[in-house]
Amino acid sequence: MSDDQDRIYLDHQATTPVDERVMETMQPYFTETYGNAASNDHLYGVDAHQAVDEARSTIAEALGAKSDEVIFTSGATESDNIAVFGVAERYENEGKHIITCKTEHKAVLDPCKELEERGWEVTYLPVDEHGMIDLGDLRSAIREDTTLVSIMMANNEVGTIAPIQEIGAIAREHGAKFHTDAAQCLGHIPIDVDEMNIDLMSASAHKCYGPKGIGMLYCRRSRPRVDVEPQIHGGGHERGLRSGTLNVPAIVGFGKSVEVGLEEMDKENERFREWTDRMFDHLQEKLGDVKRNGHPEKRLAHNLNVYIPGIESRALIVDLKETAIATGSACTSADVEPSHVITSMYDEQRAHSSVRISVGRANEEEQINEAAQRISDAAEQLRAFAL
Ligand SMILES: *Cc1c(COP(=O)(O)O)cnc(C)c1O
Repeated sequence: MSDDQDRIYLDHQATTPVDERVMETMQPYFTETYGNAASNDHLYGVDAHQAVDEARSTIAEALGAKSDEVIFTSGATESDNIAVFGVAERYENEGKHIITCKTEHKAVLDPCKELEERGWEVTYLPVDEHGMIDLGDLRSAIREDTTLVSIMMANNEVGTIAPIQEIGAIAREHGAKFHTDAAQCLGHIPIDVDEMNIDLMSASAHKCYGPKGIGMLYCRRSRPRVDVEPQIHGGGHERGLRSGTLNVPAIVGFGKSVEVGLEEMDKENERFREWTDRMFDHLQEKLGDVKRNGHPEKRLAHNLNVYIPGIESRALIVDLKETAIATGSACTSADVEPSHVITSMYDEQRAHSSVRISVGRANEEEQINEAAQRISDAAEQLRAFAL
């Protein structure tokens, strides 16, 4: 058993710890205000409903949206599924073409693959070496029968932030709905659904210091109104779009995590950018030919994805048990497939030698230097063995 104090958590893009302020806010909703938010005939239910309403308006306000445009789900995976299947099915008679990109999360790619099986056509836009799609490619791909464009706001592996406003404008110009997976962005960078021309947006609480198992789908109600075919039936909760008893404590925690995120993001991003830059400089100094994967400027401040030539990233990660970093997305780390994101940006070989380091609120300044040292030491050792 390792000493807990030796552990350093640098995998905030896989999940984040629950913030103490969030935990405190949630607590009474397990044991005191435990009513069913749909039971509006008694005060237990009314109190729970009111707590949900407050969280909903906090989240809506954070996005520049209206409260009734926020639908609670079990997380971003479910939100992505509702957006992709829900729009495809609802607008089926207007066309069966969808545009997404090669570096999307599997929660968007797998539903798209499923729709291809069912007779839809999907265009997977390529990305450049920074992980960016070309807006010209999007313009040439979009057609009369395109009903949905789904492009993530920021990539979970390399942190590249997409030109969302421009993508949304192109989609709208052609009458297609625009969905964006913002799981890595809510509570981290400013979002405005009107300014950014967003019709549907997925997010998740556990990526921004809230609890796991709760997320949301923003679904535009006006200018233009967007409808989705519900994917879960039974009871008509969430305006009939997502039935099921609401997880009140988790929703309350989600609201608080977004509120705290808005307060902290500016100064946190400044600190995180300094940390990730410092780690990169350290690795480059110690290991030489290390390269950064992703966009040099248009990226999430807390993300550092590095290519370390000559090392097998899986071996490095196994060596660094007490220092939590990732090969790519946590969802694909069970199999040995190289990251589809790095492969799309560069090649398979680079994907096999790249690691993701994501700093966050759980970290202290000293841990950054310590972790950088551990990573460079382990990489040097692996390289020495390989000789
Ligand atoms: C984490 C993540 C998801 C999945 O979110 P869950 O809430 O864990 O289902 C989807 N998309 C992106 C970009 C993510 O980072």
